[in-house]
Amino acid sequence: MTQSVLPDAERALPAPLVGIHGVSRRFGDVVALDDVTLDIRQGEFFALLGPSGCGKTTLLRILAGFESPDTGSVTLDGADLLSRPPHRRPVNLMFQSYALFPHMTVAKNVAYGLERERLPRAEIAKRVAEVLETVGLTEQAKRRPHQLSGGQRQRVALARAIVKRPRLLLLDEPLSALDKKVRGEMQLELKRLQHEVGITFVVVTHDQEEAMSLADRIAVLDAGRVQQVDEPITLYERPRTPFVAGFIGANNLFAGRATAGGLDVPGLGELPAADRLPDRAEALLAVRPEKVRFAEEQGLLRGEVADVSFYGGVSHISVRVAGRPEPVLVAAQGATRVRPGATVSLTWQADDAVLVPR
Ligand code: ATP
Repeated sequence: MTQSVLPDAERALPAPLVGIHGVSRRFGDVVALDDVTLDIRQGEFFALLGPSGCGKTTLLRILAGFESPDTGSVTLDGADLLSRPPHRRPVNLMFQSYALFPHMTVAKNVAYGLERERLPRAEIAKRVAEVLETVGLTEQAKRRPHQLSGGQRQRVALARAIVKRPRLLLLDEPLSALDKKVRGEMQLELKRLQHEVGITFVVVTHDQEEAMSLADRIAVLDAGRVQQVDEPITLYERPRTPFVAGFIGANNLFAGRATAGGLDVPGLGELPAADRLPDRAEALLAVRPEKVRFAEEQGLLRGEVADVSFYGGVSHISVRVAGRPEPVLVAAQGATRVRPGATVSLTWQADDAVLVPR
């Protein structure tokens, strides 16, 4: 196929930088990666997201060259990557900030990799100064790591990784050691930096909010398998597997069989959804708490309010519905007048509910 016959949307996509095809890796009986296929595009901020043990780190280590797959291929710019040893790959793995050299200044820590490559001194000094400016540590250049805050140390680690100008920067849980406030600041910082330096970033995280706020696209992994690769909004609004529907954000999930109008749920009747699946196909209906509303008249479900929690901007209301063990969750803007014990009717629009095949 030539470029000219590609649809517009496809033509606009940046070229894949990394191609991962059919990658599997076992450790004894444990299948860490099971036939993983995905592309990482040039210049994107890509996240590998999943619960502990799903294989994220193994995939990252394969990209870095510290681990090899049993089967499958990995290419960078279309050329085989797996046959190249780690130090010959244009790939850098950002280590946690505790991997900084304690006896060296910030500038020395950052210069270290370039000195090992025996670059001319003037070039090293120029690049170190530039990168310290980028991460906002020019004034701290002469300090040692123990004279820095956790966030600043993390920036040194980042500076050390980007000063070598890798094509691909891998970050394994880069912010997990930081407290919540610093973490929020560093998330913004990482995003800005990635944009500024134009390097493709692959971040591994088990924190879905972090992945959603940072990444252009996210691959969700479970038990070594890719569940879905999409932009954060699409993952949230159109989960394609039961795992993703349950893993990304809060969701009300109902199990049943597809009908012409939605899903037939035992004990609750037909609940509306806009998607269509083959008649009687087993599926989950997923509807977000913020899409569920209190109905004035006859709603879709009736129940008793079990709990109301006020979080300032939003209130969470859980409603016990007969015939369903888990409460239905409702998120309402601001404070709510609904009180525990009240009988309420719940409804949603068909367009707001997603059907996920099981
Ligand atoms: P976490 O978020 O906890 O770091 P992860 O998603 O990064 O988890 P991996 O570290 O890739 O998961 O591990 C995937 C599976 O492979 C796990 O069950 C792990 O115990 C196993 N595993 C990883 N490395 C090895 C190894 N060298 N030897 C044996 N088992 C391993």
